[in-house]
Amino acid sequence: MSLYNFNEILKISQERNFKAIGSFNLHCIEMLPAFFKAAQKTNSPLMIQISTGTAEYLGYRLLVDAVRSLAESENVPTCLHLDHCSDISAIETAMNAGFSSVMYDGSHLELEENIGNTRIVVEMARPRNITVEGELGAIGGSEDGKAVAAEDICFTTVEDAKRFVEETRVDMLAVSVGTVHGLYTGKAQIQHQRLQEISAATGVPLVLHGGTGVSDDDMRLAVTEGINKVNVGTEMNVQWVDQCKNTFEKGKVNDSVRKFLIPANNAVTQVLMEKIALFK
Ligand SMILES: [Zn+2]
Repeated sequence: MSLYNFNEILKISQERNFKAIGSFNLHCIEMLPAFFKAAQKTNSPLMIQISTGTAEYLGYRLLVDAVRSLAESENVPTCLHLDHCSDISAIETAMNAGFSSVMYDGSHLELEENIGNTRIVVEMARPRNITVEGELGAIGGSEDGKAVAAEDICFTTVEDAKRFVEETRVDMLAVSVGTVHGLYTGKAQIQHQRLQEISAATGVPLVLHGGTGVSDDDMRLAVTEGINKVNVGTEMNVQWVDQCKNTFEKGKVNDSVRKFLIPANNAVTQVLMEKIALFK
């Protein structure tokens, strides 16, 4: 089974009555089976996203080979997406390795430059049937080294979003509508009006970053207002580390390391299943 791009995986999700697809950050290769288990148990396709930090740690090819192999053996339609990347040569590396979707993040640039660079990535991606996510506005918090302080959060405007999508022809757009990266205590407040207006003006699937910090009610509403991709990163990491702290503390050094990791992976499966249930 080859990997699916975002448009293809969204279509499969919708055929299975999901309004949106979760895009889950893989933090280490050990976590991978937990993702597939959750997809199987919920009869959901799977979107796995990789930060450039994780891609450099594990290698782009290893990720493509491992994800493709499990997608086939577990019979789960899967999209492999490169998360936040502002380096076009790293995006090209991911494309060459076999990623089926990428994000070019030019949100820190002036609008003109963001549009210009995103267009370059879209032109690279189209002939290869790879989908491209762009970002407009600055989403707060920190994700893999990219930090935006609270005072620098910049909400996406309807006019900019319309122009950005028309001129770049991106497949999906990440919007800043109140969510924060890395938030796992306290909850963000989504600006639903802004979200609805951006969706109506652009007509493309919108992406919600910082999905860990969104309340269940807000999430259920957002997926009816144009959000078709929800990024969840921090929550799996928090659960995994929390379980590992516990099992490593109690275990003996000659226990198989596998025994320490299985409870952590079970917790990650649970997180994915709970999030996926919100997208129905
Ligand atoms: Zn993000």
